[in-house]
Amino acid sequence: MTPDHEVRFRSVLDDVAAYKPGKPPERTDGRPTYKLSSNENPYPPLPGVLAAATDAAANMNRYPDMGALDLLEALSERFGVPVSDLALGTGSVAVLYHLLQAACGEGDEVVYAWRSFEAYPIAVQLTGATSVRVPLTDDARHDFKAMEAALTDRTRVVLVCTPNNPTGPVVRRDELLAFLDVVPRNVLVVLDEAYREFIREPETIDGVEVYRDRPNVVVLRTFSKAYGLAGFRIGYAIGHPPVIAAIRKCALPFGVSEVAQAAAVASLRAEKELLERVEALVVERTRVVDELRASGWKVPETHANFVWMPLGEETVAFSEALQAEGVSVRPFPGEGARVTIGEREANDLFLTIACAWRQ
Ligand code: PMP
Repeated sequence: MTPDHEVRFRSVLDDVAAYKPGKPPERTDGRPTYKLSSNENPYPPLPGVLAAATDAAANMNRYPDMGALDLLEALSERFGVPVSDLALGTGSVAVLYHLLQAACGEGDEVVYAWRSFEAYPIAVQLTGATSVRVPLTDDARHDFKAMEAALTDRTRVVLVCTPNNPTGPVVRRDELLAFLDVVPRNVLVVLDEAYREFIREPETIDGVEVYRDRPNVVVLRTFSKAYGLAGFRIGYAIGHPPVIAAIRKCALPFGVSEVAQAAAVASLRAEKELLERVEALVVERTRVVDELRASGWKVPETHANFVWMPLGEETVAFSEALQAEGVSVRPFPGEGARVTIGEREANDLFLTIACAWRQ
């Protein structure tokens, strides 16, 4: 008989194995390749950010400042929230892991829309809790009526990804507030706003506004996308002190390096310039979506730095065709492909191939 611990390894690893990081593009003819598979920012860190990180690197023989005071104070000032409402992690995905570890375990349920961020089922399963996945609507949006119906007395956490990865739509103000009104106060609602800075929909609401008078709401943000620091691995939660204290208790000691803290502080200081880059990516996003629609693609609205290509059974063939031309995207076989908005040349190459596909 298989020992219990191996049975558990196997069930956890089944899901972990389903997470395939984007393939780097390969090409042998010397022409440029583009990675549009991981929703990264195509711009490298600003020189001032690199300089701050390099200065901090001189102390890498020491453990980092676990209190991360400079960064917490910078975030506190940026968002007008107390330091006691902020927790950091090695990317916002780590913050999510810590939060779920603190909030749930065997017998508990975590409700979220599906398809959504691939880390959710893995993070939930690692706690021993059960995922309750609620299908998106036909236009790739959250179905809050169905999510409400999915709540049970075992529900501990609801995850709301807005804009939704990998489909792109953003949750609107009225639907979110109406949903929060029906969620019991002992259920934690996580607003995953990894792509917040890319939203251009006026009918939405900032999670920082939402959490203030709702102790069961916690917001996750990251420096990986708009701020272009994915490789530094730094994200944060904004929530009420009991939630924040729980995340901090579960956090890995010294999880956020001094280099990452310094880069994040410098990025907050250079926010104006970084948000101009975000605006340039939003302009590119509009161009990509418009051209795709003009050539017959039914792409859903997107408020993130990626676009969802509903391809069904053609997904793998389409992704392989792009890969062969040096563009890697993220396929979800049988469903569609998620394509990051990159630099102009990358988007051009992608559009040429995608528009020809529809001919
Ligand atoms: N949430 C969502 C919805 C994401 O798409 C991502 C990154 N792909 C993350 C969280 C995690 O980002 P990071 O760990 O780099 O902060």
